[in-house]
Amino acid sequence: MNQIKDLQKNPRSFAVIKEKVAKVFNDNNSILGECACINTRRLYYVSIHAIPLHIISIILTATKSYDTSVFKMWSLGIITSHIILLILMIVFFLVTYKLKKRTKPSKIMFVLQYIIVAVIMASGIAIVTIDQLITTNITPFLLICIITGFVFLIRPLISFMVYLITYVAYYYLIALTITDHYVLISNRINGFAAVGIGFLLSIMLWRYNYTNITQKWRIRMQQEQLKQMAYYDPLTDLPNRRLLEKVIKREFSSMQRTGHETIIIVLDIDNFKNINDTYGHPVGDDILRQLASFLKSNVRESDTVSRFGGEEFIILMPKTSVERGYAFAERLRKLIMEKRFTVGSISIQITCSFGVSSMRDISSQTLDAYYSLADNALYLAKQFGKNRVEIACEKERRADWRKKEL
Ligand code: GH3
Ligand code: MG
Ligand code: MG
Repeated sequence: MNQIKDLQKNPRSFAVIKEKVAKVFNDNNSILGECACINTRRLYYVSIHAIPLHIISIILTATKSYDTSVFKMWSLGIITSHIILLILMIVFFLVTYKLKKRTKPSKIMFVLQYIIVAVIMASGIAIVTIDQLITTNITPFLLICIITGFVFLIRPLISFMVYLITYVAYYYLIALTITDHYVLISNRINGFAAVGIGFLLSIMLWRYNYTNITQKWRIRMQQEQLKQMAYYDPLTDLPNRRLLEKVIKREFSSMQRTGHETIIIVLDIDNFKNINDTYGHPVGDDILRQLASFLKSNVRESDTVSRFGGEEFIILMPKTSVERGYAFAERLRKLIMEKRFTVGSISIQITCSFGVSSMRDISSQTLDAYYSLADNALYLAKQFGKNRVEIACEKERRADWRKKEL
């Protein structure tokens, strides 16, 4: 049901879909936007894990007693770093809690992903620098390089800059706490290996995700194109027979529920063959397109205008009586008769014949059944000289109607 509503409400033209496809493949922003959404979701999960980890680290460090001033300084530095990170992670958690559900990127998502990368890198450098007071290993730095590369999707150029800046900051900052010259050289070399591994991971995962995202988009676009081809007429962009059939089925159930009347109007251009023969097929096509948009602009939003084939259109009007439908078709007939269709330098006038029928007068739910009733009326309109409206309904009602008309 919703699918039909969606199809009806958002008729997509072939041109719009083509434009969308071109946008996906020519515009990297769409992919960067998708990455920003993925990064926001990942940041949410990172913050959930990081919060207890920081709390545990603070407790473990704070509950130990340290006898030397170096150890005291180290524990103070570590506790301070973890408290700052804990506060930031709580903030990130709160910010991403709602943002993670969004499928469209926002400015804050773009900014947030770079802020978190900067925070993680800075925290790694800070902790490893403090650690150098009591140890020579650089495990925290190696970890943040790997985590950043593994978790966040950052495009290669930005990633390169992030790792470069990180390494430069690391290179100089560890010298503040390392007193041994050889340890400093060794840790600078090991640090270089750490950023190298992180950058490599980041590039590999970017490539992998980039391919995945583009493939996903390509499939989505193809599905949209298929839907368009299956349910819309390529010349006029109007719903085709297949979609009309679905709409009629839904309308039938709705009629049964509420008891309202719905009508079907079939309209056919008079002597259209002559137009093709006189001005050529492309001019005929243009007139069909113009008539389609004219019809669409003259109906209510709840009505469905569809191209039934050739130069024949069907208008489905829910919650409308045959009498009102007749009046509407009559008004439309006059409007079309007065309208000038301009194709290049040619100005053409056309007329149409109309058949109006009520869906109440038929018990079968098929489009063919409704169509054949309206088509009978259209046949009469053609028989009685074209450019006129005829109705098809129960005999008594028809007799009443004729009397009223006279
Ligand atoms: P009537 O008043 O009895 O309806 O006469 P008519 O000439 O309109 O009807 P007929 O069934 O004899 O011919 C329909 C014409 O519509 C013939 C066909 O070439 C033309 N037609 C059908 N589909 C298209 C289309 O997509 N583009 C163009 N240009 N012409 C079309
Ligand atoms: Mg015709
Ligand atoms: Mg016809």
